[in-house]
Amino acid sequence: MKNVLFIIVLVLTALFAKAALPDEGMWIPMLIEKYNIKLMQEKGFKLTAEDIYSVNKACMKDAVVQFGGGCTGELISADGLLITNHHCGYGRIQALSTLENDYLTNGFWAMSHEEELRCPGLFVTFLKRMEDVTDKVLKGVTDNMDEIKRQQTIESNTEEIGKNAIEGTGFTSSIRPFYMGNQYFLLIYETFTDIRLVGAPPSAIGKFGGETDNWVWPRHTGDFSLFRIYANKENKPAQFSKDNQPYRPLYYFPISLKGVNEGDFTMVFGYPGSTSEYAPSYYIDMVKNYINPKRIDINTRKIEIMESAMNSDPLIRLQYSAKKSGIANGWKKWIGENQGLERMNTIGKKQEYEKKLTEWVNADETRKTKYGNILPRYKELYSELKDYSLVSSYTGDAFFSSGAEAVGFARYIVAFAGLYESDPGTEKMDIARNELINTAKGFFKNYNAETDKKLFEAVMTLYGENLDLKWQAPEYIKIKNACKGDFRSYAGKIYEKTIFTDEGKFIAFVNSFSKGSLAKIQKDPFYRLAKSTGDFLTANVRGELDRISSEIQRLNKDYMTLQMEFDKERVYYPDANSTLRIAYGTVQGYLSTDAIWFKHYSTLKGIMEKDNPEIYDYNVPDKLKQLYKNRDYGRYTQDGEVPVCFIANNHTTGGNSGSPVINADGHLIGINFDRAWEGVASDMAFNPDQSRNISLDIRYALFIIDKYADAGYLLKEMTIIE
Ligand code: ASP
Repeated sequence: MKNVLFIIVLVLTALFAKAALPDEGMWIPMLIEKYNIKLMQEKGFKLTAEDIYSVNKACMKDAVVQFGGGCTGELISADGLLITNHHCGYGRIQALSTLENDYLTNGFWAMSHEEELRCPGLFVTFLKRMEDVTDKVLKGVTDNMDEIKRQQTIESNTEEIGKNAIEGTGFTSSIRPFYMGNQYFLLIYETFTDIRLVGAPPSAIGKFGGETDNWVWPRHTGDFSLFRIYANKENKPAQFSKDNQPYRPLYYFPISLKGVNEGDFTMVFGYPGSTSEYAPSYYIDMVKNYINPKRIDINTRKIEIMESAMNSDPLIRLQYSAKKSGIANGWKKWIGENQGLERMNTIGKKQEYEKKLTEWVNADETRKTKYGNILPRYKELYSELKDYSLVSSYTGDAFFSSGAEAVGFARYIVAFAGLYESDPGTEKMDIARNELINTAKGFFKNYNAETDKKLFEAVMTLYGENLDLKWQAPEYIKIKNACKGDFRSYAGKIYEKTIFTDEGKFIAFVNSFSKGSLAKIQKDPFYRLAKSTGDFLTANVRGELDRISSEIQRLNKDYMTLQMEFDKERVYYPDANSTLRIAYGTVQGYLSTDAIWFKHYSTLKGIMEKDNPEIYDYNVPDKLKQLYKNRDYGRYTQDGEVPVCFIANNHTTGGNSGSPVINADGHLIGINFDRAWEGVASDMAFNPDQSRNISLDIRYALFIIDKYADAGYLLKEMTIIE
């Protein structure tokens, strides 16, 4: 009975919350004061807009970074200590791992600054300030200007503004369109490149649940890793040097141990990548019914092949885990997205909305002239676009994004051979040769020819089955005819002959590259296939794809204005565009399917319930079991258990991974890392009843650092609020 009452209260809370508090949106930090802070405070937030974003004082934005270009991370100590997701650090941890020192499998913990590991190529970026530069960007742009002239004017204005803004500062600038090009913001960034790995749990914690649990609630993944930013003596960005010192940030997040309750205010501050909330039904129809199904299909096959190879050999597991995760993340999301769009009837709802819009537009002559053509033109453009878009992504899936890997790899020598033809024997050539050899070493470190052969056979077959003959590259057709579609025996012969499946052969070939090599390489089937698919896309797809996309972009701008004029009451947030944003809402469970209510947090107990040594993704490390058995939880508990993850209705997307999740006092309570299955279509349609972001409870991260890794020394540099 108690439980039933509890659930009724939760449901009522959720319903009430939905009616009173519109939580959808990824808001612009600079405009929080204007649009959001009042609502945030009504929801419980105790600080001010200036505490979040300010150019006059140290504030939260000074503790948030874009991590490695695609994730988010945040500073948690005065000594440049940074926390992000395990899956954001995954590629780096993998790159540092070997079979002897397998940090991906076993975890890594530096016990002093000296033991931290350099991560070449990794960078983090701070936003210094932003500014609305719409007027300056659109200076000289008129309504009846042709598109090319319009773009040129915008580009030259943009270049000028960006250049002037950073003169003599060492910063970089970027000017980005918001609201589909109706508004432009200048963003000034500072980028650090000496970043070192401090700690990562073993994959059995950091990736617990693997692909099975990805995008799913309830979740038990300890998805965090720790890095440190280093700077020169002036605390400025510098190349790696032993003399560099831990970066001293303007601000870092205090960490709260107070815990998370249903209904608590939460805010996510990070770098959401891209959303399409205002797109017309035609776009959703193209993605859901045309592109997603085929891409899901080919990637399902690739994942099956990789998984079976990974299960057969620990070396292959190490070699393919990052590649597989890279594919599987998007693949699984498309599946959830399609289900969600279907369940919400998003296309139907958009069509209804478009009907109303059209009636409203047609009711007024001026509106009709201005906007009357948008939706009919969208319809034409999307029906043209869908083939180009599919061919471009599908060819990529087949040959370039961990598809037939040796073919994808052969692309690199296409560029190298091109350079040789135009400029043999130059200094440029030497640089290119060294780069190519380095690329080759990286490629072969993670390459298994037998696995690749299976991938080759599968993608060659699917490419032919799923793309119309007119969209198939000529060299592909030639091979298919020659081997009568028997790609397996074809692969059996070719993999021995080509230079792209053997590191030694390849490097020797590049080192002795000469005129004769050009002729030789032109006979290599993988070279020919890589060149042919690339050339085919360039000659027959890219041009049209760009032309149609740019016309759509132009329409998007007017369509956005139309929507804003149609419903003036609504406060609009701009689609995500990899710039810093704020999402806020409350901690809440949700009704998953009939009669299944999901509670808002998970615990260590759930990890033990999932434990299964037979299944790689659910194999709980012994030490964690021991801590559980002894109830050795330290101060990291909620109602007697160690909390692991929690959910809230913050509107997030890819790129928000690693974002700080902040409570009403501005303290760090979690690290955002995923979304719950029922609501993953939120990139196109946010569903307040089911869209939930999943965060790692910061107490679980501290528990692992302290109790599991015995790296409690790291806690001393954090500000922990009990
Ligand atoms: N899992 C996502 C990411 O990797 C986060 C999300 O899409 O919600 O960025």
